[in-house]
Amino acid sequence: MARLKALPWQHQIRAWIVQLLARPVHAVLLHGPAGIGKLDLALDTAEWLLCERRPRSENACGQCAGCMLVGAGSHPDLHIVRPDALVESDAAASDDSGRGEGAEGGGRASREIRIEQVRSLAESIMLTTHRGGPRVIVIEPAESMNTPACNALLKVLEEPPAGTVFLLVSHRIDQTLPTVRSRCALVRVPLPPTAQAAAWLEERGVERARQRLIEAGGSPLLAAQVGHDALPADLRGRFLGLLRKGAGLTPAEVVAAVPREAPVGGSVALFQRWGWDFLAFNLAGTVRYHPDEVAALRGLAGRWRALRACSWLAELRAVRASADHPLNAKLAVEGMLLSYVQSINET
Ligand SMILES: [Zn+2]
Repeated sequence: MARLKALPWQHQIRAWIVQLLARPVHAVLLHGPAGIGKLDLALDTAEWLLCERRPRSENACGQCAGCMLVGAGSHPDLHIVRPDALVESDAAASDDSGRGEGAEGGGRASREIRIEQVRSLAESIMLTTHRGGPRVIVIEPAESMNTPACNALLKVLEEPPAGTVFLLVSHRIDQTLPTVRSRCALVRVPLPPTAQAAAWLEERGVERARQRLIEAGGSPLLAAQVGHDALPADLRGRFLGLLRKGAGLTPAEVVAAVPREAPVGGSVALFQRWGWDFLAFNLAGTVRYHPDEVAALRGLAGRWRALRACSWLAELRAVRASADHPLNAKLAVEGMLLSYVQSINET
């Protein structure tokens, strides 16, 4: 599944977790924005806990049987509990089909951590560990546990067997149950510094690293995702040109500019970011995704009503939900642009 090593911006926080676990702490909740590598951090910590030469170092040795088993994804004392939909979409993203849909994929598999998963976990942790060392349970994302699953977890969180460590990961800590939070040591994982994240992306051959990073809200893993809402640069420029025209954009210009095979998902994502930027500029004077477009957004602010912008964004969400199988890509993208102009002209 994921890489195992903590990412370069996590070294400090990784050292802090090591110190934390030296105390009698048996549950840690790592929380922070999505796409910054919290799962990698949790897995790296798990590998260190399960390293059979651990007392010698703050890092896993990478050579003992424990490390080998973790690396192979088959350590019997490492339990990773995630929604089926996430497991499936990760598997799809790592095969060669190029269908990496990220967290949005996953067909009909459950997006929740189900009570059955927690029950079978609770049963298995009552047995002695397979390798006689600690046992590590990674739960990601913690907010995807439904209430019955949370309640089942609380029982084991209260009194876990000796040597059991829970590492919970949450992108939305406000959506986790207070009863779960209160039993964990909370560790906030911040967004990495922009320069460091951009350098990391560039090392991985990601083009337009800084711009992609901005578009991904500062989350490097989202920015690095293959096909993450990326439009070819020329199309992106062309579409931004259309959006800038606002009320002056004509149907003929739209029809001429949208190619037959316009990527619907990437187009919706660009339009959504435009709408969000407009609202943010309108309400708070800030621009998150398109800092170069402040002048155009200011021009729109006098004409486009925030409520209309919200309705347009709601339409985009509906298109996005069916973006994988539009009947006609060109029509779908044209429709979004025409309804953009309409929403500006409506009073
Ligand atoms: Zn080891």
